[in-house]
Amino acid sequence: MRARLADFELRAPASLAVALETLAREPGQWRPFAGGTDLMVLLDAGKLPPARYLSLWHLGELRHIDVTDGEIVIGALTTYSDILQSPAIRADCPLLCNAAAETGGVATQNRGTIGGNIANASPAADTPPALLTYDASLELISVRGARRVAYDKFHLGYKKMDLAPDELIASIRVVRGRGAWRQGWRKVGTRRAQAISKICFASVLDVDSASGTVRDVRIGLGSVAPTVVRAIHAEAALRGRALTPDTIAAARGALASDITPIDDLRSSAAYRRRVTENLLEQVLVEARGSGPG
Ligand SMILES: Cc1cc2nc3c(=O)[nH]c(=O)nc-3n(C[C@H](O)[C@H](O)[C@H](O)COP(=O)(O)OP(=O)(O)OC[C@H]3O[C@@H](n4cnc5c(N)ncnc54)[C@H](O)[C@@H]3O)c2cc1C
Repeated sequence: MRARLADFELRAPASLAVALETLAREPGQWRPFAGGTDLMVLLDAGKLPPARYLSLWHLGELRHIDVTDGEIVIGALTTYSDILQSPAIRADCPLLCNAAAETGGVATQNRGTIGGNIANASPAADTPPALLTYDASLELISVRGARRVAYDKFHLGYKKMDLAPDELIASIRVVRGRGAWRQGWRKVGTRRAQAISKICFASVLDVDSASGTVRDVRIGLGSVAPTVVRAIHAEAALRGRALTPDTIAAARGALASDITPIDDLRSSAAYRRRVTENLLEQVLVEARGSGPG
């Protein structure tokens, strides 16, 4: 049943400073409202608790894409459409564009934000696996100041985050220079878009073209654990090794220690496990195929 709108309060602060003061004055009483693409679905389903919401939508301070020598800094209010239109993100972090392009339709891409995707903390969200492959870190702000958190440490458990009630995600930093690595991306869902992922797979591989040795690797996964996860055991099985059939089999085996999939409405644990292993094997076999013979 739809919620009664009169039970909700929405305040739109004129500046980031006012937003932070509001959150600090009554911690836990105000919930940020960015593009609303997750919150409005809950509202429509009658599942959004009547409470007080703080609109971030007009806070230009949170909507930017800045490029430095080593990083791209993406404001939390940056939309999927902004990401798709950024040449810098396309060059250095193409998997973020893959994720943005496969998130909902154009209306959702125009309104949904990267900060909202992270703070909604769904293990099935699509930008987080890509963010993990680019060693993302988050800048969190409050009236107490700013702090940086490595993104692979931010999700503490299902829907639990290292985010205080008076804090906002201000920006996301991703490292540059991995655009030339081999990019692997696959969102497995019932349809190509407008579907919640059964599995979201993102990988970047730096393979030495002369020896075929994996110099470095990152693998980010969604929908296979209570939070999005980095496949650190599979990465360790690959780093410094030639992409032989034995190495690929070892990485596939190591993946079992990285994921804890469950049965749910969208899929089964066994399917998720098998398909994640297959996707890893596929990107590794492709990488080997493009290396020395
Ligand atoms: C039709 C449709 C299709 C979709 N398809 C996909 C998909 O394919 N893949 C996918 O991953 N998602 C999908 N989504 C979900 C949604 O679009 C994304 O999660 C989106 O990025 C949420 O951003 P938002 O700005 O709309 O968040 P909101 O709905 O405004 O907020 C979401 C949560 O984040 C919090 N929040 C927002 N901004 C901040 C901040 N800066 N600091 C702290 N907390 C904050 C809010 O309090 C709330 O808890 C879809 C949604 C719809 C309606």
